[in-house]
Amino acid sequence: MANPTSHLTAALDRAATGGRLTPEEALELYRDAPLHALGQAADAARRRRYADTHALATYIIERNINYTNVCVTACKFCAFYAAPKDTEKGWTRDLDDILRRCAETVELGGTQIMFQGGHHPDYGVQYYEDMFRAIKERFPELVIHSLGASEVEHMAKVSGVSVDEAIGRIRDAGLDSFAGAGAELLPARARNAIAPLKESGERWLEIMEIAHGLGLESTTTMLMGTGETNVERIEHLRMIRDVQDRTGGFRAFIPYTYQPENNKLKGQTQATPLEYLRMIAIARLFLDNVAHIQGSWLTTGKAMGQLTLHYGADDLGSVMLEENVVSSAGAKHRSNLPELIELIRGADRVPAQRSTTYDILRVHDDPANDPVEERVVSHLSSTADPGDGARRRSLPVLPVS
Ligand code: SF4
Repeated sequence: MANPTSHLTAALDRAATGGRLTPEEALELYRDAPLHALGQAADAARRRRYADTHALATYIIERNINYTNVCVTACKFCAFYAAPKDTEKGWTRDLDDILRRCAETVELGGTQIMFQGGHHPDYGVQYYEDMFRAIKERFPELVIHSLGASEVEHMAKVSGVSVDEAIGRIRDAGLDSFAGAGAELLPARARNAIAPLKESGERWLEIMEIAHGLGLESTTTMLMGTGETNVERIEHLRMIRDVQDRTGGFRAFIPYTYQPENNKLKGQTQATPLEYLRMIAIARLFLDNVAHIQGSWLTTGKAMGQLTLHYGADDLGSVMLEENVVSSAGAKHRSNLPELIELIRGADRVPAQRSTTYDILRVHDDPANDPVEERVVSHLSSTADPGDGARRRSLPVLPVS
């Protein structure tokens, strides 16, 4: 009698050796493949892709700077935003504050800035142009890997220009690549359930495709655990893979889990640790055209972060000198540079600091030479609420378009 799971084994073997999975196969593997077999195949695919560097696992030193929490989009899962009329909760950061945070990032060896903020009703293209120009003038070495399709859609509307023009202008002002936040869940039902005022998943991808065409690469994300189905999870991957086949512009895929505190959606995350591991593995196998898969220790914890490195992930993200968005919703995990290096080493991999474009900057192959920068800690200056340099939204920030 034929082994009822032999076709799963055959599909895993094929994907591990570079063959392409159909969405139907990916769904079946995601649901039914034995966990260890799934992880083994994903790890084999990672090793195959990184034949010369498979012993490494990378991280980056970066800072998220939240320039405002004022937002008209009111996503139900978000604990960070304040409605424009909520003058008690709403705040903006002025340019001096932002430049000070950039200076500190450079001083601490950070290489990347990730701007994340609300859809402020007054922030058009010019706001971002002015900010990026000022940063690049003072800190040309800092890579601005920031924003996503949602911010582009919003700023273009505020300024009354096309998204092509908006992207071209912020690129010329200094944006190096898009962080690709706002992907959330791309399939319509799952997206509408948590972010009904955001652009559609198709539109999000369309804008990223335009950006790739204009020379700005990006990463892409997935928010797991708000009640989406397994079918929708795999459909999210399919939508990304289809665009990637055309553009090749997605550098990495970063799934992370829903944090249920202080928001309208509440409930609890419906992505279990095992589901998360399975997603990392199936992403490595199904997204055969995306180079990097990142494990999110920030939302799933450090031990899970280590495990992802055995399920297809090649990168553990960043030290994150500052983070307020998922922290506002309850993400409590914290780390620092020596610990992140040790986490990677504890997963039996050689830690390596990378750049935004995944070039290796330094390899920590001898613990005796590990960096000891004590201030390179996550959440060095996070507030997760107004205060500590945040200013009320009623204060003018920069001239807006
Ligand atoms: S996730 Fe972003 S767009 Fe949605 S409410 Fe929060 S800040 Fe606004």
